[in-house]
Amino acid sequence: MAERNLNQADPEIAKLIDEENVREHETMRLIASENYASRAVMEATGSCLTNKYSEGYAKRRYYEGQQVIDQVEELAITRLKKLFGATAAAGGEDDLHVNVQPYSGSPANLAVYLAFLQPGDVVMGLGLPAGGHLTHGHTVSITGKYFKSIPYGVRREDHRIDMDEVRKLAKEHRPKLLWAGTTAYPRTLDFEAFRSIADEVGAILAADIAHIAGLVAAGAHPSPIGIADVVTSTTHKTFRGPRGGMIFCKKAHAAAIDKAVFPGLQGGPHNHTTAAIAVAAREALEPSFKDYAHKVVENATILAAALVYHGFSVTTGGTDNHLMLLDLTNKGIAGKPAAQALDRAGIVANYNAVPFDPRKPFDPSGLRIGTPAVTSRGMGVPEMERLAAWIERVIANIGNEAEIAAVAAEVKTLCAKFPAPGLRI
Ligand SMILES: *Cc1c(COP(=O)(O)O)cnc(C)c1O
Repeated sequence: MAERNLNQADPEIAKLIDEENVREHETMRLIASENYASRAVMEATGSCLTNKYSEGYAKRRYYEGQQVIDQVEELAITRLKKLFGATAAAGGEDDLHVNVQPYSGSPANLAVYLAFLQPGDVVMGLGLPAGGHLTHGHTVSITGKYFKSIPYGVRREDHRIDMDEVRKLAKEHRPKLLWAGTTAYPRTLDFEAFRSIADEVGAILAADIAHIAGLVAAGAHPSPIGIADVVTSTTHKTFRGPRGGMIFCKKAHAAAIDKAVFPGLQGGPHNHTTAAIAVAAREALEPSFKDYAHKVVENATILAAALVYHGFSVTTGGTDNHLMLLDLTNKGIAGKPAAQALDRAGIVANYNAVPFDPRKPFDPSGLRIGTPAVTSRGMGVPEMERLAAWIERVIANIGNEAEIAAVAAEVKTLCAKFPAPGLRI
């Protein structure tokens, strides 16, 4: 008898997956950290590789039966070295080690702490309210509880990272680890400037490119490879792979990083994810990926300008990358009700704090909007202009559910013309 498929084995979950498939097809995905993984990437994640235990690293495993897995992991590493090595300053690619086993971005960052710090050591990162990530030392994170965190911020005048403040705080507090990386910051990072500050105080410099890895791979954002001691990333944001993590480091740190990931922090690697990372890396080596990444930035630039035209306040006045932050204060609405109304209109974004936000983190003033996913669907300049007009219409008609439903219908019609990678329609 043939084995039952998902629908036969579990119709409840099958139905929910179908519903999510429809939702993802019919709505505009503007969450800056999300994307559409290709069918090929998803096939790899849904493969028999999920069955295998492979604690250790290629040719140094604790279980037998790694004939195939070692090749998968080595392919992923080789492709990532080729892809990101090419973004390094001359010679940087020869000094590159890659670990593809972190379960996601947060565990990749924890591995950096475990590799280089002792509990109580000082870490510096961009504060969460200024656009930094939880794992860079925020108080609610283990990284802020087990280590002494000194956050730096952005300037009041222009909401850009204040490198003078970073240097001043670093000299005063002598961090062992300095993070350069962001989760809600619309401008490029000056990795060279971070490097010189880290050198002045003897800190390990870690760049976290979770959001921008796809842009970095394609040359649409400066690369920290060869500049930072360690570079961590997710694999599922602009990089468009499976949910996962990866770490690049200079060879001198290879043993410390590998030991921190396994056995320090994790058990067996998720081999199905490793295979999908290899697939995503192969896709990212194709010329079309460069086009995609540059269009992500172009779309963000155009969307930000169109929103400014509609009277929105865009922090820093625009964007250099894939995302923008709107401060809705001048529109007389907070971020959360705006995000909820937009969601009802099929425009899915997240509410977000803006720098120096007078409101509470769970009810902040802003909205974060990103263009990676809509760009993966092939949307371009005309769609960004329509999108800005819809956002304006929804915000101007909060409480008018008929108008919001009218926008949702228009959004659905547009989305039907841009089938997303990986979805079944
Ligand atoms: C998303 C993100 C992470 C965490 O990734 P998860 O996969 O959600 O654990 C880490 N750092 C930065 C800067 C991020 O944006």
